[in-house]
Amino acid sequence: MLINIHTHNPEKQDNQQIIYNLIIPETDEALETFPDETIPKSWLSAGIHPWYINEDNQKQQLEKLRQLAQYQDIKLIGECGLDRLKGSPLALQEEIFIKQIRVAEEIKKPLIIHCVKCFNELISIKKIVRPKVPMILHGFNNNFHIAQALLERDFYISLGAAILNENSNAAHLLPQIPLEKLFFETDDKEVAIQDIYEKASFILKIPLDKLIDTIFANYLEICS
Ligand SMILES: [Zn+2]
Repeated sequence: MLINIHTHNPEKQDNQQIIYNLIIPETDEALETFPDETIPKSWLSAGIHPWYINEDNQKQQLEKLRQLAQYQDIKLIGECGLDRLKGSPLALQEEIFIKQIRVAEEIKKPLIIHCVKCFNELISIKKIVRPKVPMILHGFNNNFHIAQALLERDFYISLGAAILNENSNAAHLLPQIPLEKLFFETDDKEVAIQDIYEKASFILKIPLDKLIDTIFANYLEICS
């Protein structure tokens, strides 16, 4: 089974499992009816994205997350995290992120994390909050120095469409990431998860089926 750890596209092939991401909405109206019946019957993640924190509705957003987090189909909490370039002021992002880490801790589900230019903050939050649940950094395409800092602190790293470009950071550092800390994803990109696995198999010189099994075993290890 081939696992796509983070996607915003509900379509999948029979030999694939996806974690389809739900973004907790911002407005009262949207929160009231969320999630509606259009949500795909698949494995899911749910979180308050740092771009969509509503200062006035943060309590309701967190309450909605707490409700959803109980569902069996919700496998991961997130994407949540920090973004220096977009969204609410960083202090508010940090506060809401920490609260989501606590939700994940309570229900013992791993976190899928969005982080843009806030790696120092991310690392210090992990140091202070000390969550026991695994933390997966999604869509990673930064340099090896940052990857190393994350791996030393026990983060998992998920790589996406960037590895299809051999000159990307993600493609360069793929061989440096221990296989047991690795995931793959399509996120919001119009690419096939199969192509990402094939490219990774080529770069790593590992047979495709072995790579697929290894990454699925990683999933089972953290999401049982
Ligand atoms: Zn995403």
